[in-house]
Amino acid sequence: MSIKESLEKVRDNVWELPSDYKKEMRVPGRLYLDDESIKDIEEGALEQVANVACMPGIQGASIAMPDIHFGYGFSIGGVGAFNYNNGVVSPGGVGFDINCGVRMLRTNLSEDEIKPKLKELTEVLFKNIPSGVGSKGQIRLKDNEINEVLDYGAWWAVERGFGWEEDLKFLEENGRMKEAESAIVSDKAKKRGIPQLGSLGSGNHFLEVQKIDEIYDENVAKAFGLEAGSIAIMIHSGSRGCGHQICSDYLRKMDKAYRNYKINLPDRQLACAPIDSKEAQSYLKSMAAGANYAWANRQMMSHWIRQSFEEVFSRDAEDMGMTTIYDVAHNIAKKEVHKVKGSHMEVLVHRKGATRAFGPGRREIPKEYSSVGQPVLIPGTMGTASYILHGTDLAMEETFGSTAHGAGRVLSRTAAKKQFTAEQIEKDLNAKGIHVKANSAPVLAEEAPDAYKNVDSVVKTSHDAGIAKLVAKVLPLAVTKG
Ligand code: 5GP
Ligand code: MN
Ligand code: MN
Repeated sequence: MSIKESLEKVRDNVWELPSDYKKEMRVPGRLYLDDESIKDIEEGALEQVANVACMPGIQGASIAMPDIHFGYGFSIGGVGAFNYNNGVVSPGGVGFDINCGVRMLRTNLSEDEIKPKLKELTEVLFKNIPSGVGSKGQIRLKDNEINEVLDYGAWWAVERGFGWEEDLKFLEENGRMKEAESAIVSDKAKKRGIPQLGSLGSGNHFLEVQKIDEIYDENVAKAFGLEAGSIAIMIHSGSRGCGHQICSDYLRKMDKAYRNYKINLPDRQLACAPIDSKEAQSYLKSMAAGANYAWANRQMMSHWIRQSFEEVFSRDAEDMGMTTIYDVAHNIAKKEVHKVKGSHMEVLVHRKGATRAFGPGRREIPKEYSSVGQPVLIPGTMGTASYILHGTDLAMEETFGSTAHGAGRVLSRTAAKKQFTAEQIEKDLNAKGIHVKANSAPVLAEEAPDAYKNVDSVVKTSHDAGIAKLVAKVLPLAVTKG
């Protein structure tokens, strides 16, 4: 039987890949997909879900989100939680761009207020926030200062004058994983990180000025401070070359480690080590350092975004109400307590292209949002909607408090470049009234809206399945890309 034929429908939008599909599977696979997407799902990505289910210490199920697609070892849009006492950690389950994530800022500006200045605003944002492959930030770090960035993340940035102290309250982990240990991060990772700090990156990374177009849940929108018609800003960026190097360093180490620890894996790309091993512990400390780099990075860019708005509108950022809605990591592994078979267990949750979606009452979320669950920030594409959802109790029960992270690719970058031209894409966006500015023309073709799944249906699947609930829809007005 093919892997697709082995899937069993649990309820609408939820499928199970039984654990007898492969004899090495320790848990079933669980997929959040609607009846349409199940038809188009890549078999390769499904095999990856089955492979992850074979790894030591996995709990509950190997989980696939509605935006699942093929990735390195683990699929993108995948969640795997491993018993902290006898499970494993795998760099491939986090991904190359450690703590790639999304931050949103509010404003109290209306579309009418910004429309006349939109072109200028796009230019100023593009000028003030460095972007592009290998782009360099606009600050010079002092000797050893990279270590402070790696150890303190967004806290370092705020201390250095980038942004506001109250921002920290609204960042996942408050913008700093305390487990980080800069001393063990390779010189190569630091060397790559130093010049790039405070830059957006390229490709899928973007900065977008958006209009809050529709509110689905007035009560939650109020708690999140979202008002229909007002302008918001979304940043999508990660840990640049620094995180990439940390991932590469540890893929090599783990490739040796899993053999030494005699772990049987169906795919070498799942290379991992027992969580209590020295390899795993140093990966986790280095990964946390990479995550901190990304939080510092998004914090610095938030500061320059505020400055750009101040420059264009000649008003203070405070006066324009430019506070932080939230900041989520969508490539990360974290120690969390979840209910497994009725009792509490410490697990290491790998979210690779998946967003934490903690429900009401979890102590990890800001008290301002505690009664409604955390904000879940889901980018779509530069030509379509993006969404804000909130975490739910059901996500806590079924997905270790996780949901999708984006629309998810359907075309590879190469395929997209063959199918679209930058000129056409820019024309289409302009026709919709969207300003776009990119460092390189090919990026526009690679990131063409049609290279992605339909984000409306991705968020609808999460919503209908109950693993996150819709709060608001935003539409792009101006986009800058790498
Ligand atoms: P990833 O982290 O997987 O690279 O990207 C996350 C998601 O960002 C993608 O799945 C896609 O839906 C979304 N995305 C990529 N480019 C853009 C953009 O320019 N604007 C918006 N709003 N979303 C984008
Ligand atoms: Mn990224
Ligand atoms: Mn990302």
